[in-house]
Amino acid sequence: MDYAASTPIAKEVELAMKPYLKEYFGNAGSLHYFGQKSLAALDSSREILARVLNAKFNEIVFTSGATEANNLVLRGVVKAVRINNLEYKNALNSKSCFPRQQAGILNPRIIVSAIEHASILETAKDLEKEGVEVVYLPVNNEGFIDQKQLIDSLNERTVLVSVMYANNEIGTIEPITEIAEIISDFRFQISESGKSLNPAFYPLFHTDAVQALQFLDVDVKNLGVDIMTVSSHKVYGPKGVGALYVKDLEFRTQNVGVENKALPYSKSHILNPLTTGGEQEFGLRAGTENIPGIVGFAKAVQLVEKNKTIESKRIKKLRDYFWKKLKIIMPGAQLNGPDVKDRHRLPNNLNVYFPNKNAEDLLIEFDMAGVAVSSGSACSARSSAPSHVISALGFGEERGKKSIRFTLGRHTTKKDIDKVLERVLK
Ligand code: PMP
Repeated sequence: MDYAASTPIAKEVELAMKPYLKEYFGNAGSLHYFGQKSLAALDSSREILARVLNAKFNEIVFTSGATEANNLVLRGVVKAVRINNLEYKNALNSKSCFPRQQAGILNPRIIVSAIEHASILETAKDLEKEGVEVVYLPVNNEGFIDQKQLIDSLNERTVLVSVMYANNEIGTIEPITEIAEIISDFRFQISESGKSLNPAFYPLFHTDAVQALQFLDVDVKNLGVDIMTVSSHKVYGPKGVGALYVKDLEFRTQNVGVENKALPYSKSHILNPLTTGGEQEFGLRAGTENIPGIVGFAKAVQLVEKNKTIESKRIKKLRDYFWKKLKIIMPGAQLNGPDVKDRHRLPNNLNVYFPNKNAEDLLIEFDMAGVAVSSGSACSARSSAPSHVISALGFGEERGKKSIRFTLGRHTTKKDIDKVLERVLK
């Protein structure tokens, strides 16, 4: 009952990976047969991800997981802005050619929701130490971001907005297309005003779609996002692999002088790499590619995409049955996040507040009965602090200490649910 933390590798995934562990072990950068075999596997995996996300081949960047991908987004955007700024200043001094719209932004601001995963929140906090201004968007008591506050927080210095697609603790599905529209309206206003030096695509819009990939529409064109994070081990793929969708953005280039001139486009003008030492992943991530992992991830994504609608329905039905029975056994139990009937809640998530129980004790009791549950995000489980997500809902910190997350998955059956209910009855 903790599939949001991780999932077991699917049989098909295991089989797809196998040849690349031993037989075709070549470095995708090598020119010989073994290298070319690996490169072909890398290319076809990238094509699969591009197809599922409705992106282009060169818009998919493989990483070591969502944590790295999220770090690359926040740190990479800020670094690119700073470097552009420096280059712009140098160009001004030397009167050389430099696109005006590529000029960096002084004192960049980034906006993130208060309920993001730690890989976003802790990175944002770290960037604050370097002088980046961070706005933490509050959420209402069901976890939906305050859109009015988003509108009010956007300014000419805002380089990035990062709002997760679906929350990993309480299952809230944020209105990504509406947020994309707000950002696009703001960009239009700014570029029309003619006052800003910002490239027309700022602020960039990023979403962490780790928990959404399995159940929701992940077509980046429908969503209207510029950058999106996904992870393999949440969708029955191997651990240690993830990917970023990074939109191919056009620079509306202009010379420092009078003349207009187009400059060659480079992804690193938008995201500067965190690792250097190789040209892999379009220059955004140096390091030998994890071919077996990437092949497994692509296979997992294909399987998930194929069964998305049916599986979502099946899991939702089970989850609703679980909640109905649980409420009968424990009428005092309350839901964290949107109602189970609300389509803005992940179909596999149930986060329950037990007013008379301690979450840690419950977790251990469940574990002893062979049931794996979670008292927050797995990434923060070793910290004694109450969940920042539950705290952000405004019911006080205590609620986080008395809440348990149940997340159902591909192998959860009605029998499993009955076993958990039996445990609750004891
Ligand atoms: N974002 C979200 C929403 C997650 O749930 C997780 C995993 N807990 C991550 C990011 C981190 O993913 P990874 O384990 O691939 O680094």
